[in-house]
Amino acid sequence: MKKVMGTLLACFMAAGLTLSPVSASEKKPEDVKKAYLVYDIKTIEPSALKRFKNDAKVLSWCQIDNKLIITCAENDRPKIPFAVKSVRSLDAVEKMSEPFLAMRRGKASPLDEYKSDIKVLYENGAYTIFQAPMFVINDLSRQESNHFKLEKFDQSLPLRIDSKFLEIPAVKRSKVPFKAEVDSERIARYIKTLEGFKTRYSYAEGYLKSAEWAAAEFKKMGLEVKMHEYTDGSRKQVNVVAQKSFETPGNFYIVCAHLDSTSPKAQTDAPGADDNASGSAGVLEAANILSKTQKAGNFRFVLFAGEEVGLKGSTAYVKELKASGELSKVLGTVNFDMIGFDKTPPLSSLFETYENYKDFIANFISAAQEQTDETKRLKITVSYRPWGSDHIPFLKAQIPCFLFIEDEFEANSNYHQTTDKFEFINLGLCAEFVRVTTSALMNMASQN
Ligand SMILES: [Zn+2]
Repeated sequence: MKKVMGTLLACFMAAGLTLSPVSASEKKPEDVKKAYLVYDIKTIEPSALKRFKNDAKVLSWCQIDNKLIITCAENDRPKIPFAVKSVRSLDAVEKMSEPFLAMRRGKASPLDEYKSDIKVLYENGAYTIFQAPMFVINDLSRQESNHFKLEKFDQSLPLRIDSKFLEIPAVKRSKVPFKAEVDSERIARYIKTLEGFKTRYSYAEGYLKSAEWAAAEFKKMGLEVKMHEYTDGSRKQVNVVAQKSFETPGNFYIVCAHLDSTSPKAQTDAPGADDNASGSAGVLEAANILSKTQKAGNFRFVLFAGEEVGLKGSTAYVKELKASGELSKVLGTVNFDMIGFDKTPPLSSLFETYENYKDFIANFISAAQEQTDETKRLKITVSYRPWGSDHIPFLKAQIPCFLFIEDEFEANSNYHQTTDKFEFINLGLCAEFVRVTTSALMNMASQN
């Protein structure tokens, strides 16, 4: 069901019914008490729908999949010019908030506790648009984390966009594209080894062991390694940083992932195969490939601690980049977080970044399209609402960056569980993430 809704969004966009709302500020007196109405528009004829959206009484509208949400004055509602299957009226009671958007990763969400208090306008797996009394909004905002994010719903920004319908600038690709030799078996060995540490929880011993192991792997590739230490409260924590040479003064791209894991038994049992041995293995495999090229010096590889306890490793690392003056040398960053789960074909992924980094992600979309084997070609969906992973500190520092993540994470019931194991990993997905990333980065580095 969730998947079907996503596809319908794409269909609407293909039909030219984009999600941009009517810009209606001039007919929107602020003191009017508003109502939000939701229409099921699956069967509505497009021209009738268009007329309705243009109705003077419709203050603004937003279309998601087969639902149309309109805002109107409570006492001055538009007539419905077509036969609708179902209309739900979600009146803005005085104490109700404006629509908010909640985003989640994983099954549990703080929203679940407030089911009786909230009015759901739209729900699709990872996204819920709803209204609630302000005290609920305030309660929920205090529960924001890496796994739950709340924001006022900005109707002008589509929830998700199929990259097929994204207007992106043309990318200059080399006549002979870089051919990345991705070794799936090696990725498998990396993931299994990382799972073998039992836990890589930042505050458990296993984390340090995995960091030392990863450092040794980078050294085997002929890379220099720095253990970047930072303090988290009274604890010493460490990120693993690798590059051909740290003395090279040139600019570089960063490929990163968080090495730590979590589960309800984080101290002893947090295998984190998908989250995020898969991404860490992806970084190691990208390092294998890129370190053998002539542009090896232009890439830095970083594995972070502390993601699951609040993006601490990446936050400390970006701070360090600023302090050392290296930040201005970072041309762009790719963050792998959960790149190994894909149950239903086609292979699918989600890019999360800000809209102003469209040009940067265009390189990766273009590299994905170059896949000639259709069974491996990656479907890419884009969200311009980034949150909850190590891309955030980079974005805050205004570095072009995106989160590269599987698009089926909602269906992964092992997320943050002791059952997040290698047996559920889709190696083909990991391999394609690495191929797309290394190929796009090589193409960009060759043009500098
Ligand atoms: Zn993660």
